Amino acid sequence: MSDTPLAALEERARADRAPAADEALISCDSLVRIFRTDEVEVQALQGLDLHVTEGELTALVGASGSGKSTLLGILSGLDLPTAGRARVAGHDLLAMGRRERLDYRRRTIGFIWQQTGRNLLPYLTALENVMLPMKYTRVPRRHRAARAEELLGTLGIGYCRDRRPGEMSGGEQQRVAIAVAGANEPRVLLADEPTGELDTASGTEVFTALRRANEQLGATVLVVTHDAQVSGQVRRTVRIRDGRTSTETLRGDAETAEEYAVLDRAGRLQLPREYVTTYALTRRVRLTPEPDHIAIWQAPSEEEPPPPPQ
Ligand code: ADP
Ligand code: MG
Repeated sequence: MSDTPLAALEERARADRAPAADEALISCDSLVRIFRTDEVEVQALQGLDLHVTEGELTALVGASGSGKSTLLGILSGLDLPTAGRARVAGHDLLAMGRRERLDYRRRTIGFIWQQTGRNLLPYLTALENVMLPMKYTRVPRRHRAARAEELLGTLGIGYCRDRRPGEMSGGEQQRVAIAVAGANEPRVLLADEPTGELDTASGTEVFTALRRANEQLGATVLVVTHDAQVSGQVRRTVRIRDGRTSTETLRGDAETAEEYAVLDRAGRLQLPREYVTTYALTRRVRLTPEPDHIAIWQAPSEEEPPPPPQ
């Protein structure tokens, strides 16, 4: 048996090693996306790490301009990162060829945009909109209507089946959009501020539909939201700051919420800013391993005189 706290820790880490990042359905490591326009360079993602297990419903929050849409653009296969690593359901997003990318976008992921007008074709009914993606994946014609109908029912908008987008409320259109995104049974649903243009009541209904897509259709859902109410309803909230994942909140059953920092592959850890301020941490901190945790102390500054000789 081990006799030092550190050895005990190492032993336990070996025994219940966390699943490898490769086992996550979505895994991003040190993801970088630089936009170059004429003279200007914008680092939208600056080494972002994110791992999502299959079946999770995760909220992604962060200030405007922090890189949320950029991340979703990459995960949806629309955009390519400048550097780093991104894998979704076994696909390497940096190495996909044209055919694989097309197939990935049609079958593996479903996408819901914030702008209601962008999700649906205005001249098709809700049912026809939901049937359309199945045409591209060659679902036999006779199965399309039945599956579309079932999806609309599951998401609580069966009554909209014969309406065109202009005859539905914003919330109803977004719920139909979730059905469209889910038409080909994607493993991942990505939604970029899907409730951003809606009032609170419709926003709640859209969120309920996303939750059903997660629980009943089995899709792993990643939803960008500004809505504190929404992030209050999900188990896991990931916060992005300056193109990096900064902290995570995991919510338990009994209204408990715990704050987590993200550890990247290299073991780097970013402390939440309020801890750095509150404990006046600067430059260098001392780590002391304890049996079940590690303590962080402010190291004495270098200007201080060395301790007197014994
Ligand atoms: P968020 O969705 O969190 O508001 P974005 O991912 O849209 O943030 O943007 C992150 C940063 O990248 C912003 O500074 C934005 O201006 C910049 N950006 C996003 N897309 C482009 C683009 N196509 N060209 C140049 N800069 C972009
Ligand atoms: Mg955005």
